[in-house]
Formats: sequence, C-alpha cells, structure tokens
Amino acid sequence: MYIPDLQNVSSCPDVSVLAVGWIDRDRPFTWSEAVDGDLVAAAQGLVDTTITRHLAVKRTRGIHRCNICKEQDSGSNACILLPTEDSSLFFLTTFLLPHYVRHHRYLPPEGFIRALRRDLSHWELPSKRLEQCIDPKSDEGEQLEREQLRVTLKDHPDLLAIVLGETPARPHK
Ligand SMILES: [Zn+2]
Repeated sequence: MYIPDLQNVSSCPDVSVLAVGWIDRDRPFTWSEAVDGDLVAAAQGLVDTTITRHLAVKRTRGIHRCNICKEQDSGSNACILLPTEDSSLFFLTTFLLPHYVRHHRYLPPEGFIRALRRDLSHWELPSKRLEQCIDPKSDEGEQLEREQLRVTLKDHPDLLAIVLGETPARPHK
C-alpha cells in the first residue's frame, strides 16, 4: 500500500494523522547514504512496543509485504499510530518500517524521527474516536494499487473487472 510521506489521513478536523513509511518500488522515497543503526533500532523498538502493549490500530485483512525486494520474512497486517509532543498530531506508519530502514535505507521525515526518539513508556492505546478518524488510503495510493492490479491480472480481464468493480469489456468476435 502506497501513501505519500506526510499525507494527512485523518478525516477529523481537530487531529492530524500524517502517514510515514508507506513506500513503494514505483515511487521515489528519501533514503540515506548508509544504514543508520540507531534509526533501525528505534524503528524496531517502536514495532516491539506496539506489539507487546497491543497498541496496533486498523488491522488489515491481508499481510502487506515489501514490494521492493519481495522478502517474505517481514510483513505488516496493521498500522502503528505514533504520538508526538503535540496532542493533536500523530504519525501513522507500518510494521514494515524497520525493514525499510534496514534494507532499503529509507529515511523518514525529521519530525517523525523526533517523535520516534521520545520516551514512549507512557504511551497509551489511542482512543476509539481517534482510530475512527484514520482512513489509511489515499487517492494516489489507490490509483497505484489499481495500476499494479492491472499489470498483475492483465491476462485475466474478467477477474480484474471483478476485483476493480468494473464492467468487463466484451470480447470482440
Ligand atoms: Zn524490502
């Protein structure tokens, strides 16, 4: 799933939820010259904290995998909502974040890194209302997913039509 970095995915006017780390092989992303070990550790720490304290939000139906390297060991089936010092600002990232930083030298935006390095020990489960504000989709992301589906299913137009909810083109006779 692709969402441009720092896109606000909140539908509530009083809270911003900025997407970070929803990268894709077909879109440019910022990356660092060398693997940043501290950043990898911080990203992994975020994932570990989220799992041990059951803080994941928006579970997805399937498992989302890296499409840059096709590694099958890492996957994500939920989102991580990272709080910041501003109580009306959150970041929404993926369980694939440590993988992207370690294997693809992905460099998240500065504000996100700052939030990542805060003491998260008092972090609490986001409110249900906040979770309902999040719509982790973007027009751009959806369009890209459709493009990828078209390529994947190009030999199966009927199936593609069903998946995309379109009327199949009638074959010419
Ligand atoms: Zn990868």
